[in-house]
Amino acid sequence: VKRKPLPLVTNCNDCGVCCLHMRTPPHIVYLIDGELQPNGDDNYGDFARLMAAPEEARRVLIEGLHGDRPDESPCSWFDPESKKCRWHEFRPDVCRGFEVGSESCLTARKRHRVGMSNGKYRLVGGKLMRS
Ligand code: SF4
Ligand code: SF4
Repeated sequence: VKRKPLPLVTNCNDCGVCCLHMRTPPHIVYLIDGELQPNGDDNYGDFARLMAAPEEARRVLIEGLHGDRPDESPCSWFDPESKKCRWHEFRPDVCRGFEVGSESCLTARKRHRVGMSNGKYRLVGGKLMRS
């Protein structure tokens, strides 16, 4: 039986599904008395990037940590219109290490049926809805 090869995934165009369940940007930092602090030398990159990010990005992150967003809601840095990270340049190491086309990527795409006719989603009031 001849099987069709699985499509190669080489870019994130019109996807964004790996950002849909993060709630807040997963920077590894401490928040002490409302102030962001580094969480050890190993995670200093996350802290340094946050400090270099626009103030609004930090405010949104801190609000997300304090707020009542459900655990499984989209990352507060995610833009549902463009399906991209609003402050991509300042995203944390965890996001940088998530490879396009990796097994985790393909699993997330399959879960959300990206590329399939019924695979469109939209966010309404922060909740995921099938289009
Ligand atoms: S699931 Fe894969 S293709 Fe989709 S945004 Fe994440 S890395 Fe990109
Ligand atoms: S890439 Fe950006 S929007 Fe996606 S989970 Fe990371 S910080 Fe959030």
